[in-house]
Amino acid sequence: MDVADVKAKTEAAPGVERHDVEAVNAAALGSLYKAREAIYPKRVAGFFRNFKWFIMWATLGVYYITPWIRWDRGGDLPDQAVLIDFAAPRFYFFFIEIWPQEIYYLTGLMVLAAMFLFLATALLGRVWCGYTCPQTVWTDLFIWVERRVEGDRNARMKLDRQPWTGNKIARKSIKHTIWLLIAMATGGAWIFYFHDAPDLLWLFPRGEAPVASYFSFALLTATTYVFGGHMREQVCIYMCPWPRIQSALIDEDTLAVTYRKGRGEARGAHKKGDTWEGRGHCIDCQQCVVSCPMGIDIRDGLQLECIQCALCIDACDSIMDKLDLPKGLIAYDTDLNINRMAAGETPRFRFLRPRTVAYAIILTVVGSLMLYGLLTRDYLELNVLRDRSPNFVELSDGSVRNGYTIKIYNMLPREQTFVLGVAGLDAPELHLVGDPQTYDVLPPLTVGPDQIRSVRIYVTAPEARLPGTHQSPVTFSVENTEVGTVNTSQTVFVVGAR
Ligand code: SF4
Ligand code: SF4
Repeated sequence: MDVADVKAKTEAAPGVERHDVEAVNAAALGSLYKAREAIYPKRVAGFFRNFKWFIMWATLGVYYITPWIRWDRGGDLPDQAVLIDFAAPRFYFFFIEIWPQEIYYLTGLMVLAAMFLFLATALLGRVWCGYTCPQTVWTDLFIWVERRVEGDRNARMKLDRQPWTGNKIARKSIKHTIWLLIAMATGGAWIFYFHDAPDLLWLFPRGEAPVASYFSFALLTATTYVFGGHMREQVCIYMCPWPRIQSALIDEDTLAVTYRKGRGEARGAHKKGDTWEGRGHCIDCQQCVVSCPMGIDIRDGLQLECIQCALCIDACDSIMDKLDLPKGLIAYDTDLNINRMAAGETPRFRFLRPRTVAYAIILTVVGSLMLYGLLTRDYLELNVLRDRSPNFVELSDGSVRNGYTIKIYNMLPREQTFVLGVAGLDAPELHLVGDPQTYDVLPPLTVGPDQIRSVRIYVTAPEARLPGTHQSPVTFSVENTEVGTVNTSQTVFVVGAR
């Protein structure tokens, strides 16, 4: 029943109650839901399949192994090469250590990743989806396991049609157990990025790890198992926004997995010895369809469901080989080339286009700025916060005192000594809170490796030495006694209320 039927039915029935209309509507909407049809992708062999194997094992290897790579930073600093340490809080990436106030590096990294993805999509269509997206990689791994346990397409289809025999129960149990183990390894590897991996491996089974790690482990295990094993192509079609976004990023020059219909049509069965005269090279063998993990027919044109995994290219190329025809009936090509070939023109590729040039320029500019920022990075930061309550204190001798909290960030992996100075006031008296002594120049302050030192100081200025305004600008400075670098921070010294 479609919506028109529902309208006709409800409108043609005077006296129909509101709840009846809703019931009919619900029934109609129910019929709009299409139950998932199981897809049994057939194994293919060829260049793109091999390339996908390579990418799959490489990305999985990087994901599972990275937390176990050690990197000696000296002192008490973590020796894990890649670590997101929320407790510190720091992000460690080999020799780079990002502090919370440097979050703009993360922003830059996200802009770079987005631009790289935009550029890749404008040039090569959904290569991210087809080769490196985690959903694709883990689904590929789960299908590989399924094939090893239950056999290739026909065997799997036969097994699913069979009643629940001992053989079927055993195979399904083995498959789901392996899937669960992979999902657990995936969830397990994820939490190692947030804690020292060997420590966490020891604490986790004992129930002594942070609660968040158990929650993350459970969540990642469940999503990997459900998305990779059960939902598969449904995640790409219904849940992921990328297929919709990509339509704004591609154009008629974008390379995409394409059926060259000019060469393939008119399609039809072909017997050995038959002539190819007056017909196309597609023999309608359906090999491209049955090998597709999304269950679609590339011969219907570019479709939202197509993740551009190129497995249909391999499937069709093997058929072309058998027929002694040139490969490439399905190939990476562009819409424009398909039209050119149909018009008898020579196909050509145009990689330099306004959008690809714009993406490349943004990539270069943002990448260069980030590189420059990292190379000229300051490893010392000074942060000064003036007390607001009270704003100032007038002492019995008429002098005025302001309190400040000074934070010195030593971002180097070794202890540093700093001299703190105050400029802008005429001969102020300085007190370290908790130290009864009065200083003209404060004693040097040491800050441990990769640490923040916070000190509270009082600055007192005799009223006679102050200009007649309600506040004066002052500059705090810290000088690194080892290398002589100086960092400053501007604030004010408040003399009285406005
Ligand atoms: S695999 Fe090639 S020949 Fe076979 S149906 Fe697909 S396009 Fe046609
Ligand atoms: S149509 Fe071809 S490229 Fe697209 S998802 Fe299916 S097998 Fe992959």
